Amino acid sequence: MDLDNGEELDFVKDIALNGDVILVVGEQKVSLRAHSQCLVCSSKVFSAMLGPHWSEGKNLSQESPKEIPLIEDDAHALYAICCVIHHRNDLVPATFSPRQLLQIAIEVDKYDLHTALLYARAQWLQNKRNTTDPIELAYLMAAAFLFDDMEMFREHALALILQHHGSYIKLLEDSPLCQILPTNTTCLLEERRNRLRAEVGEILLKEAENSCSCGWGKSRSSRYRDLLSEYTPLKMLEAPISQVIERIKTVSKDCMKRELHQAPSGFGSSTYAKSYYHEPAEYITALAEKVETAKRRASICLDCVRSNGGTESCRFKHE
Ligand SMILES: [Zn+2]
Ligand SMILES: [Zn+2]
Repeated sequence: MDLDNGEELDFVKDIALNGDVILVVGEQKVSLRAHSQCLVCSSKVFSAMLGPHWSEGKNLSQESPKEIPLIEDDAHALYAICCVIHHRNDLVPATFSPRQLLQIAIEVDKYDLHTALLYARAQWLQNKRNTTDPIELAYLMAAAFLFDDMEMFREHALALILQHHGSYIKLLEDSPLCQILPTNTTCLLEERRNRLRAEVGEILLKEAENSCSCGWGKSRSSRYRDLLSEYTPLKMLEAPISQVIERIKTVSKDCMKRELHQAPSGFGSSTYAKSYYHEPAEYITALAEKVETAKRRASICLDCVRSNGGTESCRFKHE
């Protein structure tokens, strides 16, 4: 089943045919038949709810499964979660929309299912790396926040910085996002995007400097100077940073020819008197490293949003 298509769930889902409880979920009252023991083992909240001290946990039997109303919960999300904790991999939906994944994260957080869903959610978050829609990226970032997944949170936040050049204000207008993400998140996104724009501008300036007097060096620098005059500071605001970085890398790859740097005469036997080859691969690697360093500095990790924005004490190494 593919829940991305907005497929409606049937009203009754037998995740466990002989389960002793029926979760009645959402306003549409979808029935999910399940084993109480699976719920108890996976979640401290269900463990308390279905324990001996609550009426829900008393007199459970396969013959007359007890209905547990969970009206405020999301049926698709709890269905996917129940499939995982009942080892029903044949029923686990293959893909989710970012919005559905966020719903799952909300339920996982609410019922404290983090350990039980550890591997399933890592898989689901990985599959969604190719979206460029800012709201979808923010849903994935919020899901990673609730899952406490440092790497996925950083990746989706960085994708928002690299691929979105408009305002982040509309993220605050979205109801689940503004309730889940810490209030400093949009400020940090804007701050780090500014930083990355400046870093990319610095890289362009450095590459445009005429660092070598030979023909190879001159033609390379002039290509970067062209790019610099194309991406003026105001133009930088109108383009996604990922696009500028791609252009910078393309120039670097276009200069692939290995050329001899002829030593100038008149320097005797000094270092300057030696000829050598410009190795394009080394320049490409050095440039890629500069870009990666800039991205690390501009990244937002879970500790950034949980602190006042400083990066010194972050578990992720920004520097
Ligand atoms: Zn040269
Ligand atoms: Zn950080």
